[in-house]
Amino acid sequence: NKQVVLKWFVVGAPTEKDMEVREGKAELKAPPGCGGVVVKNLYLSCDPYMRARMRDNSSSYIPPFQPGSVIEGFGVAKVIDSDNQNFSIGDYISGMTGWEEYSMITRVEHIKKIEKDDIPLSFHVGLLGMPGFTAYAGFYEVCAPKKGDYVFISAASGAVGQLVGQLAKIHGCYVVGSAGSKQKVDLLKDKLGFDDAFNYKDQTDLSAALQRYFPKGIDIYFDNVGGKMLDAALLNMRLHGRVAVCGMVSLHSYTDTDGIHNLFTLVQKRIRMEGFLQSDYLHLFPNFVECVANYHRQGKIVYLEDIKEGLENAPAAFAGLFTGKNVGKQVVCVAKD
Ligand code: NDP
Repeated sequence: NKQVVLKWFVVGAPTEKDMEVREGKAELKAPPGCGGVVVKNLYLSCDPYMRARMRDNSSSYIPPFQPGSVIEGFGVAKVIDSDNQNFSIGDYISGMTGWEEYSMITRVEHIKKIEKDDIPLSFHVGLLGMPGFTAYAGFYEVCAPKKGDYVFISAASGAVGQLVGQLAKIHGCYVVGSAGSKQKVDLLKDKLGFDDAFNYKDQTDLSAALQRYFPKGIDIYFDNVGGKMLDAALLNMRLHGRVAVCGMVSLHSYTDTDGIHNLFTLVQKRIRMEGFLQSDYLHLFPNFVECVANYHRQGKIVYLEDIKEGLENAPAAFAGLFTGKNVGKQVVCVAKD
């Protein structure tokens, strides 16, 4: 049972050296009375929030991984043994699993059955999973969007950003995204249907760049990165604008000069800035799956996925989220079935 374990608590941006791949024991039978299932892991999700679990911080909203233990994350897996009447051998599930070939899952409240249909299984950790749902809940529930709004999204080609942009376009908004390479900027404009996009790494003055892309200002900023981009976006907000604070991935490589200076803009322009966690909106999950799966089937939503083959490549794939190596949703394929 190949496994990926955390070596130590991580300081700064994570690297693949913070994790190691080892050979561990596999339990292939669910002991009677445990109420759990044994699964064969197929697809594992690399998500920026997992960085927060690699730090020695027991006061976080989510408990830390312990050094020496197998990393946990969202995944898609196949049930190979079951001591639970809700799951049968051969079922496909998505939810919390381990970064290993086989996992024993006893916290079955964190997994759910999925149908194997025309939607690829890996989509259940991305477009139709937690990141997609974050985009859906964040956009409709936090941003209070209106037709014609000027919408700006950072880390726009990523798992969350790409769907926020496409939902905003369907809603009749004007949408601009920022990303960290020419390849990503071209994908935003040519494949994902954004009105415009730019490479933030090419800009000497982020605020001036936003002013060029939004001469009338920004109504909605969907913030995935925090730091300097948030500061620049604040200066370019319109009266009564909304800033949805989804994540701050840039803060993992934070330096003192990156601080926020423009918070008083919230008062001057009566901006609503709101942090949110997708888990607060889980009652909307069924609506989300129906809505986004239909948009995808109708060709109204495109999905960019970056699949790395092999569990041994999971540490590098995860670390790549913090240097922008992933082009679209980062997934690791452990086995195809
Ligand atoms: P992505 O697929 O967007 O991957 C992360 C991307 O962040 C990278 O590809 C890179 O893109 C960008 N990035 C990395 N470092 C920096 C940096 N220093 N400055 C600017 N951009 C950087 O990840 P997700 O879509 O899964 O997550 C996006 C955000 O949403 C994260 O902040 C995450 O924590 C948050 N999130 C919040 C949730 C919630 O409930 N609130 C739930 C899920 C995610 P580029 O090349 O463009 O720089």
